This record gives sequence, structure tokens and C-alpha cells, in this order.
Amino acid sequence: MSTLVTGIGELVTNDPSRDDGPLGVIAGAALVVEHGHVVWTGPAKEAPDADTRIDVGGRAVVPGFVDSHAHLVFAGDRSAEFEARMSGAAYDGGGISSTVAATRAASDETLRLRLRTLVAEMRSQGTTTVEIKSGYGLTVEEEARALRLAAEVTAETTFLGAHVVPTEYAGRPDEFVALVTGPMLAACAPHARWIDVFCEPASPHAFDGDRARTVLEAGRAAGLGLRVHANQLSAGPGVRLAVELGAASADHCTHLSDADVDALSGGSTVATLLPGVEFSTRSPYPDARRLLAAGVTVAVATDCNPGSCFTSSMAFCLALAVREMRMTTAEALWSATAGGAAALRRTDVGHLGVGAQAHLAVVDAPSYRHLAYRPGVPIVRALDVPGHA
Ligand SMILES: [Zn+2]
Repeated sequence: MSTLVTGIGELVTNDPSRDDGPLGVIAGAALVVEHGHVVWTGPAKEAPDADTRIDVGGRAVVPGFVDSHAHLVFAGDRSAEFEARMSGAAYDGGGISSTVAATRAASDETLRLRLRTLVAEMRSQGTTTVEIKSGYGLTVEEEARALRLAAEVTAETTFLGAHVVPTEYAGRPDEFVALVTGPMLAACAPHARWIDVFCEPASPHAFDGDRARTVLEAGRAAGLGLRVHANQLSAGPGVRLAVELGAASADHCTHLSDADVDALSGGSTVATLLPGVEFSTRSPYPDARRLLAAGVTVAVATDCNPGSCFTSSMAFCLALAVREMRMTTAEALWSATAGGAAALRRTDVGHLGVGAQAHLAVVDAPSYRHLAYRPGVPIVRALDVPGHA
């Protein structure tokens, strides 16, 4: 069965051969989907016939957002911590332990309901691919449970046993790293595609460069791809470690030395910026322009989590990237789609070229520019193409 999507005021393909910019924009466009994949794009007047037809009435269509960094398996509520932070309390990652306690106490059904609600919330705002991390269980059984639940809703599952040192291991981080890289990794690797670590010497709860290296090397030996929470609170060793070990992504990149930028520009590691975190912790934003000027591949993601940033809206993060990090709207949209796909080393999502998965998002506006121009307004959603999963 084939479906023609037509009446597209502006189609963003992210196919660079289409246009003189990276977005590959086609005005007055149509697109044909067959067996869940894009098989044709072009001007509507040249569109081939198809079995069914959807007319989007002049709206813009963009690739579904690829949210390459999210923590969605948790229980509990940290709105009071947010309020305290807005009144002046500093963020150092310490509040994660309260989510750990609530998550351990929650049933599978409670966790599953929250997880599925958040994924649906994301889809209703245009996100069609999401990476989901564990990291609020921090025991062998709890981390494996979180990953089993995450795997029910995404292929992009990340083992984040090294999120923080749990309170029962306080003062004994090396013993906890031995647990993470031993029995916990063995239990979690079958349910995970990636391993991640919160590398942050400036936080008393996170992991220094040597411990982060131990975690990542163990994960790699177990067949997992690498991602790093790097340089969120200080210009620590996380970014250079990520590049050295060939990680797919170094996430946060808020505090960067010249050596960090040089490393990123010479490597294959994507810099994933999470401006919702800076918004929600009232912190300085990463210097996106510096990274782009150095030729670094930049992704934008939500970091949706109950502590440092509880937004599921990629469009909100895109607007922040434009307003606060001085990205152009085109750069921010590319980073939220193709950039996220690069951070997950995926070539089948994040664009709408021929062969891509038919993950479409429709914008209630004639141009993608409205994504940043109308912050906070729910104008973008995933487009269901009937007959295609
Ligand atoms: Zn995170």
C-alpha cells in the first residue's frame, strides 16, 4: 500500500542534494510512502499516483524529531527541587538519589504507565525517535528492569548504571564501579544498545575521568556503543574521553576548553546540546556557535528527566537553541533531526530522503521557521500515515 502526502507548503528533507542548504527544502511539495518508507519526494505537481492520499493543506512537513537523550524510566516528583533552584539553590546532581528511591519503590506498571505517557507526549509534539536511559535503579535488578521497560518502547536503550554513586555506596565509588562493570553490565547489556556515564569531577555524586573510562571500556567490551554525560558542570575530562574512545555522542558540552573543541572537531563524536537543562537550572548555555564554527556535528535533545529538565518538547529546545545559543532556525532544526540521528548513528531517521523511515512531523504553519518563532505553542506533531507503522 502506498500513500501520497500532498499539499505540503514546505517540505524539509534534510537531503543536501535538494537545495543549497542542508535542510533540502522543497516548496509546494509532496511525498510518497510505501511499506513505511519514503519512496518519492518532489514538487506536488509531479507526484506519482498512490493508493491513498493525505492533504496537509499547505502546512510544513519536517522529519520527526530525533530526541537522542532522555531519562524516562522513573517515579516520583521533584517539582519542589525545581522551585528551590529557582529561588537560588544550586544544581549538583544530588537530587537524583530521591528519584532512585521513588523508582525502586514503584511497580512495573507504575513505571510503564509513566514511560508510555511521556513517549506519547513526545510523539504528540513531533518526536518520532527517542533514546531512553536507565540510571534510576542503580542495582543489578533495578537497572535491568528499567532497560527491559525502555526496550518496550524504543530500540535506542542506554545503560546508565554509572549515573550517580548511590547512597549505599557513599564514599566507596570504586566498589560501585566494580558492580556497574561486573554483574550489572552483564544483566543489562542484553537489553541495551548503548552505555553512558555521568563523567563530572565537579559533582560529588558523579564519576571522575578514570572511573568513567573504566565504565566505558567495560561497556565497549560487552558490545555496547558509547555515550557520555560530559562537561555539564565543569570543563572536565568527559569530552576528550568520549572522542578518544570513539563515543557516538558527548552530551551537554556546556563547559568546553579549546582542547575539547579541537578534539570534537577532529573526531566522529557528536556534541549533543541540551539547552532545556540550562533553562531549568538557570545556568549559562553551551557555546553552540563555537562548535559550529569548528565544524563539529551538533545535535539538540531534551534530556527529559525529573530533575534538571522536565520538558518533553523538542520544539521548545529548538526555540532555546535559536534564542539562547544563537543557532539559526535551520541549524537548530537540522540538529534536532539529522543531528540527533547522527548522535545515535542512525541513517534511516532524521531525514526524509528516499529510503528513510516515514517519520513525518507536520507543523501548523507554512514554514518550519514557526518552530522557533512561536515558542511554547503546540504547532508540531507526528503525522500518522495510515497503513504504515
Ligand atoms: Zn542526561
